[in-house]
Order: sequence, then structure tokens, then C-alpha cells
Amino acid sequence: MSIVSSFPDLIVVGGGLAGSEAALQAAQAGLTVNLYEMRPGVETGAHVTTYLAELVCSNSLGSYEIEKASGLLKKELEILGSFLIELAKESAVPAGGALAVDRDLFARRVTDMIQSHPKIRVIREEMTEIPPSPTIIASGPLTSKRLSESIATLTGTKHLYFFDAIAPIIQAESVNMEIAFRGQRYDQADGGQGDYINCPLTKEEYETFVEALISAERIRLKDFEKQIEEGVTAGAKEYFEGCLPIEVMACRGKQSLAFGPMKPIGLFRQNTGKKLYAVVQLRQDNLAGSLYNMVGFQTNLTFPEQKRVFRMIPGLENAIFERFGQMHRNTFIFSPALLEPTLQFKNRPDIFFAGQICGVEGYAGNIATGLLAGKNAARYIQNKTLLRLPSATMIGALCEYITHADEKDFQPMKANFGLLPTIKKLNNGKPGRKERGLMHAERSNQELSAYLKENS
Ligand SMILES: Cc1cc2nc3c(=O)[nH]c(=O)nc-3n(C[C@H](O)[C@H](O)[C@H](O)COP(=O)(O)OP(=O)(O)OC[C@H]3O[C@@H](n4cnc5c(N)ncnc54)[C@H](O)[C@@H]3O)c2cc1C
Repeated sequence: MSIVSSFPDLIVVGGGLAGSEAALQAAQAGLTVNLYEMRPGVETGAHVTTYLAELVCSNSLGSYEIEKASGLLKKELEILGSFLIELAKESAVPAGGALAVDRDLFARRVTDMIQSHPKIRVIREEMTEIPPSPTIIASGPLTSKRLSESIATLTGTKHLYFFDAIAPIIQAESVNMEIAFRGQRYDQADGGQGDYINCPLTKEEYETFVEALISAERIRLKDFEKQIEEGVTAGAKEYFEGCLPIEVMACRGKQSLAFGPMKPIGLFRQNTGKKLYAVVQLRQDNLAGSLYNMVGFQTNLTFPEQKRVFRMIPGLENAIFERFGQMHRNTFIFSPALLEPTLQFKNRPDIFFAGQICGVEGYAGNIATGLLAGKNAARYIQNKTLLRLPSATMIGALCEYITHADEKDFQPMKANFGLLPTIKKLNNGKPGRKERGLMHAERSNQELSAYLKENS
């Protein structure tokens, strides 16, 4: 018999991947839940069905291999009892080492499970204001306009973003330090020190690079993302000047990058002491110092083109891209200032954020934050200590990253090994990629089991 209530213990806003998982977790912990989903009454522009947990693009939830970052994330989700991962496995289609699903079957199964749950009531309405009672906000990258306004009032407008502008992130150990060198942003540091890695370019190298950049293939924007282009072409300067795609900047004139993100102020060639013509700077992106982002290189080029064109930069010939750049319509909050690693909102402890809106990328990452927010909202209401997962687990590391990332260029992040504490060298030298992945997985498993034993 249904025990749903007009005064539920918890409200979940958004019946996407994060909201669906969150509602199921909270209900399993004993809460009554009202889940608000605005579709089909209000459309997002990307979803095409009325199902909950619709996959908007690819039908793959990423690798299922434990030695890969997204495989480890799924393993942890299994250990933590994710409902959506189980339903994904039941809806799987053959996809080699990946977990891909029949998208309709998957979303239908999630919808059926939620709609038939005795403790969950699905309300097909747009939530326009943040409720005054315990709530999980999981309204996703395409959050409705009115709810966005209410979120902006809660967070402050400067802490809510409507587009991501992601620059590529590179593995530090793949940079050729025989060509690149350390320094400060606008200043040569002494003795090969400094926070930035500088990739120097001669005039010829710069011109060849700019040529390749301008003619490289770009990702075609969807209708609801056209503002990115309109902002650029129609001159909506207040939004876009600070984060124009690098290729659009390059089109404005051959020298615009040399006087913009590639300007080499205060930097000299290591061996000759000659002033640089241009420079690409890499800035540390994680505490472990294993990842570096390309400063000012937000881009909308296709991923293969990013690899081809950015590897033309001296020092990056063999760069391994941990994340490619991208620009999307994407509503997300500035989690480093607003959220605890438990996903609890600092200024109102009865609010939790989950999914893409808290700054996590990728289907499985969004399910993971939904799971944590659902469990923690229940623990909050039941006066239990909230879960803060170990930072050696992929889910714990993602939550640590989004709540502690550098203020200057916070952008959504997906699961990757660079977020985890580094793995020590083996006796016989550095572990290879696969070996390193397996070691991360083993450590995550040990720490998660120990943590759950103590905190069940
Ligand atoms: C076009 C596009 C393509 C993407 N492709 C991929 C991909 O291929 N692979 C990948 O890993 N990630 C992809 N992502 C990123 C991300 O993983 C997905 O968007 C994912 O669905 C986000 O999960 P979520 O639960 O945060 O949001 P969603 O799954 O979008 O769910 C949010 C839900 O909230 C509802 N909602 C919004 N506002 C309100 C409101 N005011 N009241 C009530 N309900 C509301 C929406 O209708 C929606 O159902 C894509 C994102 C976009 C926008």
C-alpha cells in the first residue's frame, strides 16, 4: 500500500539520473519522498521521452573495466548499492568493455521502479522555487529558468553558471620537460621552479599552430546551445568575453592569441635567454600535481582535432589528455564555496545538490552523486553522521574535487585517476597504466570496505 504523503520527509527536484537514484536511496532508508519532474509539461530541449532517467545522448555509461577510472566508479556504485547501475546491467547491450544500455528499456525500468515504489510520489510539475523543507536539487544541466533564478538567490548570482568552458587537462608526466619549462605566470622563476609549465613557441611554430586551429573541425552545437555561438557572434560580451573558445579568439586576428592567452610576458627561452614569441601555459589542476590544465584553452573543437592540433605545441607532442575541452549549455553551481564533500549545502544544511548541477560530469558520476545525496539526506533527517567517502575512492575523490577545486577555473569534472592520491612507485620502477589502475582499484576497495564497516 502506498504511504506517500503531501508532507513528505524529502523533496527531490529533477527525475534524471541523479534525482532518480537519490529518491530510491532515500526511500530505501525509510523516507517518504516527493519527486518533482517537469517533463513533459516543460521540456528541456534535449530530452525526448517522458521517462525518468533518460540518457540524453550516448547510450554508454562508460567503461566497466576495473582498471579504468569509470570502471572503478561503477564498482564502487555496486558496492554502495546503486539501483540505477543494477537496472543498467539488466538493460545492457553488447559493448565490449563498456556498460551500454538499451536506453528506452533502461529508462522505462527506472520509471517503473520509482512509480511503483510505495514511498515515492512522482509529481509531474516544474518546481519554481527551492522548497523550505529538506530537499535534494538534481535538476541537471538544463535546469528550468525559474528554478535557476531561485537557485541564484540561494547561492548568489556569481556562484551559478550557465555554460561550461572547459580547457583540456593533460597528464603532467606526458609533458616533454626537455622543451617545456617551469616558471610563473608572467615571470621566469629561478632555478627551474615555478607553478606553471611553459611550452614555448617560435614565430613559425605559432603561425602554423594558429592556422591549424582556425581550420580544425568544431563540434556542432545543439539548438538549445546556440547562445554560445550567438554570444560570440552577436557580441553578448558580458557572458562570453572571458571564456571565448580559443579557436574563435584565433579567428579574430592572427596576433590575437599572442596578445591574449598565449602572451609570453616576462618569459625567456631557457637555453638562449631570448624573449619568447608565444607561450602555452599549463597550470596545476589537482593537489597531487599529476594533472595540468591548458590556461585559457577552452575549446569547442572535436576531441580528435584537439589531440591533433594541441599536440603541435612544443612539449606536448606526446600529451595524454585526461579530459578534452568542451563548451556546453550547463547549469552548475560553484561547489567549492557552497557545498561540503557530503554534498550538503553549507548555508542551509537541509539542502543537498546532486548530479551535473553540483559540477560532476558523466552519467555514472551523476548517478554517484545522486546516491550519496540520497543516503546523506536520509542520514541528516535521521540524525546520523553524514557519509564523507574516503578520498582514495573515485566517488570520494570526485566530491573532494568539486568542493575544493581552485576558484579561478572551476569547471565540471568527471572520474579520472588524476583525482586520486598518487600510487607509490613499485620496487621495479613506475607502474604501467593498467597496473596503476588495478592498484587504485585495490586501494579503493580496501578503504571503502573499512569505511562502510565503521559507518553503516
Ligand atoms: C545534450 C547533452 C548531452 C550529454 N551527453 C552525455 C553523454 O553522452 N554521456 C555522459 O556521460 N554525459 C552526457 N551529458 C552530461 C550528463 O551526464 C547528463 O546531462 C546527465 O543526464 C545529467 O544527469 P542529471 O541527473 O544531473 O540531470 P538530468 O539527467 O538532465 O536530469 C535533470 C532532470 O531535472 C528536470 N528538471 C529541470 N528543471 C526542473 C524543475 N524546475 N522542476 C522539475 N524538474 C526539473 C529535467 O527535466 C530532467 O529530467 C550530456 C548533457 C547534455 C546536456
